[in-house]
Amino acid sequence: MRILIKGIQDERFHRPLTLISNLFFEETELVFDEESSLSVSFDIKDRGDSAAITGVLSAEGREYRTGHSKSLDPLTSDKERFKQIKNTLAHVYLMLLQEHTGIIQQWGILTGMRPVKLLHKMLQEGMSKEAAHTRLRDEYLITDQKIRLMQSIVDRQLKVIPDLYELGREISIYIGIPFCPTKCAYCTFPAFAMNGKQGRVDSFLGGLHYEMEEIGKYLKESGIKITTVYYGGGTPTSISAEEMDMLYERMLAVFPDVKQIREITVEAGRPDTITPEKLDILKKYSIDRISINPQSYTQETLKAIGRHHTVEETIEKFHLARRHGMNNINMDLIIGLPNEGIEEMAHSLAETEKLMPESLTVHTLSFKRASEMTQNKKRYKVASREETSKMMDLAVDWTTENGYEPYYLYRQKNILGNLENVGYALEGQDSLYNIMIMEEQQTILGLGCGAASKFRHPETGKIAHFNNPKDPKSYNDGYKHYTEEKIRIMKELFGVREQV
Ligand code: SF4
Repeated sequence: MRILIKGIQDERFHRPLTLISNLFFEETELVFDEESSLSVSFDIKDRGDSAAITGVLSAEGREYRTGHSKSLDPLTSDKERFKQIKNTLAHVYLMLLQEHTGIIQQWGILTGMRPVKLLHKMLQEGMSKEAAHTRLRDEYLITDQKIRLMQSIVDRQLKVIPDLYELGREISIYIGIPFCPTKCAYCTFPAFAMNGKQGRVDSFLGGLHYEMEEIGKYLKESGIKITTVYYGGGTPTSISAEEMDMLYERMLAVFPDVKQIREITVEAGRPDTITPEKLDILKKYSIDRISINPQSYTQETLKAIGRHHTVEETIEKFHLARRHGMNNINMDLIIGLPNEGIEEMAHSLAETEKLMPESLTVHTLSFKRASEMTQNKKRYKVASREETSKMMDLAVDWTTENGYEPYYLYRQKNILGNLENVGYALEGQDSLYNIMIMEEQQTILGLGCGAASKFRHPETGKIAHFNNPKDPKSYNDGYKHYTEEKIRIMKELFGVREQV
């Protein structure tokens, strides 16, 4: 869809306008001096203490007109001022496109990944719940249903982590193991099919052990505590039981106060990697939160997306994990996988009901640019916006009826129906790491392949990123450098404790 935009001089507004357009149309192109059947003309008046924006949309001989204004604090920074004007512009544009298409965007002008963080921020700044909700509704155009969801998630998070806002001087650790038995079609994670390339796995684990030792040493010296640890990937249970044993033994030896860590999770995502030996190793190190991810309980779907395991295998491995003492199991489902509709979703939920995992994460399919599925989009038939939304409603009803509550939420670009991914948990079974990573209240150190570190300044909350390389070869060549860099940044943020 090509849209002619008039009245916008500042190029910094182009991207936000494109993001809003993409909520309504596939592959939008904004043009500024070419004719088009759909055009929007803006008039921005910046009066110093307020900004007033009007917009007129013309299409197929019809015209819609709307406006919005925002008071501005003359003492506010230029950056904040730009943000407020940008939001006002997005507000006007969204109203026009909603009117034109008849589609209501439940998340309003929010196109980012972490809507709940916005509500946390308002509450942390001292705003009352009512004032925050009014702002989310009137300025950001978020629907009441989604505001209620945001608030219930905030309440739940503060119940399970009452000191959430005070954890800025602790950190969480993410450990990325970049291997999987085979590669799934929708996957953009750093996941390399192992195919007997043991040499590569050995060198990778050598590098990872080094990183853990050096980082552990720094944390001990600086008195920095670890809140949670999460092994992800890839599939961390792709490596052998012996390799897992050595890895966790190292963690115990080198990380500070491992007994005080509030939660250690290992993604056992692919059921085809789970064995009794590996479950015994997890138990040996008191790791009892794992993820076993069915994604769907329809066999043809698993085949279509390249997951080389069966539905029976998922169920079997779930029971095996239970027999081996795993008492906090998460399962993931994805709404909108190819050829799936309401019937398949209802079936997946009915199967989940037979297992009752402690937590269930309901993802909505997103077309990530680098995945096989996106590159061959025409080969995959996916549900319409309406059907996707009904599938989501089904998941919401099912979780409510079965005693699960939403505890974290995030959104992705190109997500079907502009919906969201929601983690639900039974009472007291929420994943603390998921909350920490979403709400950005502390630093997350990423070790291993493809691991992204997010450094959060303990006082200002400012965030900086640092990424380890995604492919094992570059990691193996440069892990010492990546470790040094992270310690350097940590020293800048947290300082170094004087040795006595
Ligand atoms: S199991 Fe997960 S990480 Fe591995 S290829 Fe599939 S989606 Fe990617």
